[in-house]
Amino acid sequence: MKLIAGNWKMNKTPSQTREYITKFLELVRDVKNTEILLCPPFTSLCVAGEMLKDSHIKLGAQNCHYEEKGAFTGEISLSMLKELGVSYVIVGHSERRWLFGETDEMINKKVIACLEKGLRPILCVGEKIEDRNAGMTLKVVESQLKLGLSGLEDLAGKIDIAYEPIWAIGTGTPATPEDAQFVHRFIKEFLGDVRVLYGGSVSPKNAKDFLSMPDVDGLLVGTASLDPESFAQIVKASE
Ligand code: PEP
Repeated sequence: MKLIAGNWKMNKTPSQTREYITKFLELVRDVKNTEILLCPPFTSLCVAGEMLKDSHIKLGAQNCHYEEKGAFTGEISLSMLKELGVSYVIVGHSERRWLFGETDEMINKKVIACLEKGLRPILCVGEKIEDRNAGMTLKVVESQLKLGLSGLEDLAGKIDIAYEPIWAIGTGTPATPEDAQFVHRFIKEFLGDVRVLYGGSVSPKNAKDFLSMPDVDGLLVGTASLDPESFAQIVKASE
């Protein structure tokens, strides 16, 4: 089944979350053939978890810490997330890598911790514009996959990969569906049978074009997931 995931980033208070989910549940009530995931900020997970618990919409976190507990001020463990109903965790988003200094080694620990806890990681990979211009896209993606998944085997059905070219995130300039297809094919040849989502300026206008590519197994949506109508349209493009 295709997965359409919304990453709200640092947006929406708990009351705004309540308002959004009330509308969104109604808008996607008839969606049957698509897995839907909402990833609100940590502070909204509790309210979202309550509202979604009897629905067909899954709940995801945008980040996690890999330790179980302890002196890690400001961090959130996977047990804390699990108790709120979280079943997916976005790991290694480019904003975590480039704004908050997450290394491939930290990302690898997070992926391992998610799998050990029975949560499904969505590992984000993608190149900067300089890499792309230098013809290094596949080298960068391969290195992020190798290091991020180091020590892990047999990942089919346990993990999703999001290909998010950094130059396409939040810029209004998406990759072409053909560019995405090319990298997704490479990822599947490298890893075997995993779901590969595309992310980067996805909108209700272009969602279908991406989803019609044979190796685009879903979408990770930032900006356009903040509005329940737009996100519902993207979800329905996958049906
Ligand atoms: C993202 O941050 O994962 C993302 C894809 O953002 P946007 O849809 O705004 O480009």
